[in-house]
Amino acid sequence: MDIEIIEMAERKAKFILRNSSPAMANALRRTLLSDIPKMAIDKVEFHLGPIMYDDKEYESVTPLFDEIIAHRLGMVPVPTDLNLFCPQSECVCGGEGCPNCTIMYSLNKIGPCTVLSGDLEPLGNPDLRVKDEFIPIVELTDGQAVLIYATAVMGTAKKHVKWQVANGVGYKYLPQIAIDEGMESDEEVLECAAICPKKVFEVEDGKLVIKNPLDCSLCRACTDHLGERGGITVKGDDKNFFFKFETDGSLTAQQALDKAVEILADEAKDFKAQLEQL
Ligand SMILES: [Zn+2]
Repeated sequence: MDIEIIEMAERKAKFILRNSSPAMANALRRTLLSDIPKMAIDKVEFHLGPIMYDDKEYESVTPLFDEIIAHRLGMVPVPTDLNLFCPQSECVCGGEGCPNCTIMYSLNKIGPCTVLSGDLEPLGNPDLRVKDEFIPIVELTDGQAVLIYATAVMGTAKKHVKWQVANGVGYKYLPQIAIDEGMESDEEVLECAAICPKKVFEVEDGKLVIKNPLDCSLCRACTDHLGERGGITVKGDDKNFFFKFETDGSLTAQQALDKAVEILADEAKDFKAQLEQL
């Protein structure tokens, strides 16, 4: 099994999984979706009662229920350093909460304003400031205020989607496209350049050429158009897979892929050990 990177951006990856199987491709997809750990806000404490600011008294009320604000804060991507943090259940503190397993944030705003994710202030390390600063949380009118303490802990998407690092994870069988010899200039074959919805083909010097084979969605619009006379062959390769996914920014795409492969390898080792015991 090899991974050939096509595109690796901060939050977006495209790669080809080579010499693998449909089962392994699906295992990698599921690992990316639900097994990569990350930090997310899991506990939110709201200050109740009046809040004083510059000799003015503000009410600690908002137009939204506290539960909705807590839920929105939970969904804010929190930057995660997998070398720094561990799940509370495995922490030396025994789950009580310490800098190894929790990140504390404060949120202190007075109206009128829109409270944004960027208003979350990490207590301690300023590197833990959330990267997406403009996610709206709640709108405050004059005289309203919020004072919130939020705690982020590590988890995986098996428990809640707020711990999901990768999204839009998808793969397809790697398209194998071939134009039959001598058919490149055939009139109906040339028409396929316009028929293909993914613009896989182009006409160059009166001949059909394959320009963007990875864009092919195996819809077979070209082979259906040609019917029995043929001219183009399109197949999905069940040993090589074209993968795409994005992350929410808590980890980079490279970190997410590395972690997913590491988790899969560990699970395979564990499975082998269990088999040997039988
Ligand atoms: Zn701890």
